[in-house]
Amino acid sequence: MSSPATQLVKPASAEPKTQLRALLVEDSEADAELVLRALRKNDFDVSAVIVQDEAGFARALRTHCPEIVLADYNLPDWKGMEALNVLRRQDLDIPMILVSGALGDVTAVECIKQGATDYVLKDGLARLPEVVRRALRDKYERGLRHQAEKDLAKKADELARSNADLEQFAYVASHDLQEPLRMVAAYTQLLSERYKGKLDENADKFIGYASEGAIRMQVLIHDLLAFSRVGRAEASYSTVDCNEVLEEVRQTLASAIAECAAIVAHTDLPAIWADRTQMTQVFQNLIGNALKFRGKEAPEIFVHAEKAGQQWVFSVKDNGIGIAPEFAENIFVVFQRLHARTEYPGNGIGLAICKKIVQRYGGRIWVESQAGRGSTFKFTLPLQGPQAKEEAHQ
Ligand code: ADP
Repeated sequence: MSSPATQLVKPASAEPKTQLRALLVEDSEADAELVLRALRKNDFDVSAVIVQDEAGFARALRTHCPEIVLADYNLPDWKGMEALNVLRRQDLDIPMILVSGALGDVTAVECIKQGATDYVLKDGLARLPEVVRRALRDKYERGLRHQAEKDLAKKADELARSNADLEQFAYVASHDLQEPLRMVAAYTQLLSERYKGKLDENADKFIGYASEGAIRMQVLIHDLLAFSRVGRAEASYSTVDCNEVLEEVRQTLASAIAECAAIVAHTDLPAIWADRTQMTQVFQNLIGNALKFRGKEAPEIFVHAEKAGQQWVFSVKDNGIGIAPEFAENIFVVFQRLHARTEYPGNGIGLAICKKIVQRYGGRIWVESQAGRGSTFKFTLPLQGPQAKEEAHQ
């Protein structure tokens, strides 16, 4: 039979005290009084509700909104520890302290393992105020931590959304710019064909500039689209043998390799779970750059991979012009280049594409280099691709 909850009246006090709403699970009124006295003696202004069973407990949670639960371990009709289940079911983070006549160490440890915050013996109630203060402090700090985690997750979410918006904007803008630009390029081309030598010398020059500008912009937009497509297209995963990818890249770049008598060598490379086209893009950009940014000597390019923990570390080493360490980060940003186009052709998008691809796999890309001393581009890829992991979990 459930007994009615007893509402105890707060005592008057002159001192500013810590207000505390306590819910006592206790069948002895005398013991409850001792508990409350111990708290009140230590500057707590306690308003308490005392219950003896689950129904009373659940009701008091709603009506009293306690900040702490002080539960006797053994009651005639209920067990103090069961209060924890009620708190869990209602998803309430309220510290629960066991206040018991006798509780062996083993039982006490077991109760704490199950979620009780602490325990105090009835003949040691002098400890209770400190135990309650600590429990409230811990809960407060837990709340702060929880809030900080929530704020962080919200910020990360906002950032991801704004990145996605930006990406969408870049995609739409570059996609939609293609058509008017095609018109500009076509008509400046037509002008230069029809009117070359018919107007004055300046006109020929100006039409030439306009025509070149339009073509350059077409290339830029094409590259920008390639960059934003990396994040948009569905990656199609399969086991990709990197030796085969490298062979393919070697064939694609065959004339550039032959032109500068380059050597492109590699150790035995692993097979990875990835999108083959994307892996080809990464190797082609890195090897293409190693050929392009060559020094006076014929390029020697060496590709290698080694295991480090749960990932592969790939490296593409060259003996080219190198990169001063202060530019080592910048070169991975879209359109960032260290040279004029007249010196070395390009738009500064290749490494940005490599970075985006590698990051999609949870990897990292960086360069180790000194100006004039060659460069080693390194990137990591997980031993197992994201999809392989998902499949393994199913
Ligand atoms: P692009 O090759 O079109 O300039 P990338 O994004 O591929 O664009 O490279 C960005 C810049 O990084 C290059 O302009 C160059 O200055 C530098 N870089 C890239 N690869 C190398 C390399 N292997 N050796 C020296 N510099 C390099």
